[in-house]
Amino acid sequence: MPDITKKQIAKLSKRYSLQKHILAVNGIIVALIYLVFMCLFGSNILKDLISQITVNQYLLIALYILVFVVVIDIITIPLSFYGGFVLEHIFKLSNQKFLGWVKDEIKKFLLSLVLLIIMVEIIYMFLRNFPNSWWIFVTIIWIFFSIIMAKLAPVLIFPLFYKSVPIENEDIKKGLESLAEGTGVNIQGVYKINLSKDTKKANAALAGMGSTRRVLLSDTLLDSYSLAEIKSVFAHELGHHVYHHIWKMLVIGTITGGLGFALCHYVLSKMVETLGFQNIHDIAAFPVICMVLVAIGSILMPIQNAISRRFERECDRYAIDKTNDPEAFISAMDKLAEQNLADRTPNRLVEFLFYSHPPISKRIEMAKQTTQALP
Ligand SMILES: [Zn+2]
Repeated sequence: MPDITKKQIAKLSKRYSLQKHILAVNGIIVALIYLVFMCLFGSNILKDLISQITVNQYLLIALYILVFVVVIDIITIPLSFYGGFVLEHIFKLSNQKFLGWVKDEIKKFLLSLVLLIIMVEIIYMFLRNFPNSWWIFVTIIWIFFSIIMAKLAPVLIFPLFYKSVPIENEDIKKGLESLAEGTGVNIQGVYKINLSKDTKKANAALAGMGSTRRVLLSDTLLDSYSLAEIKSVFAHELGHHVYHHIWKMLVIGTITGGLGFALCHYVLSKMVETLGFQNIHDIAAFPVICMVLVAIGSILMPIQNAISRRFERECDRYAIDKTNDPEAFISAMDKLAEQNLADRTPNRLVEFLFYSHPPISKRIEMAKQTTQALP
């Protein structure tokens, strides 16, 4: 590819990444403004209105959460439409039709609403019955909830959005089978997922637990990469399995959740009445819980990302060792960067805050050093 085109792609990637990060930060700011508004004015009014319909605690909470989520979704529709649809089309990364986007948004809304209502009902049940130790119980429930979600996501949630089928191509199957030998991943657990219905981007992932453990490779990757490149990407995902990264991330999620719930308890027990709410288990104080969780999540995000980047580096090294083919790894990274418009050399601060994977330039640099180290 001529140099000028590469430069143009690099420029486009920088613009695309910048817009994505601005949107992410704006999303957090809008959510915080909404939460502050609800805390100061809206939440008590909303609870009083629903109290006129029902006195049942569980129904009151479910209706409160329904309105709470509908309002924040309406407020953030412009951001999610621009980020999830317009921007992807401007940068020619999307095949999705407008109706398809609407359908997916409705599914995401219903799914998150159901999960949130279940979680909030559980939190408030413990808040009512164990006002001093509720956060310990909720953390334990959170662990089980995370495990169940990780286990069921590939069989219950992913199929709501994308179809996946076991890999059929015999050459690819054979190539991947030899890599998977001895790792505990069965070739029957390697799936092709039809991302191409919505996007031109390529992706791969390890998902599930125990019987639902699987490697997902996008059709956009399988259909246009060489076998050697596919093997590099697959071996990277095998690395996540071999190093138990899903479990390790669950432990990190549990620590973050536990810290968040403990801090919620501290803030609620110190400030709930000052802020104008009745008691610690007043559903009107729910925006306070959200604010604390958003704050702790944002503060801990760079640490979680740093750990994730470390895991990704481990898997890159694993992939190169396993395939003994750093050149294929480098060309796969090059293709992925180009196809997904990934910024190869992000600003250091942006990398520190937002990057769950090392930037492509560093991943390629690491592989090049391996090539030089080879005899
Ligand atoms: Zn990875």
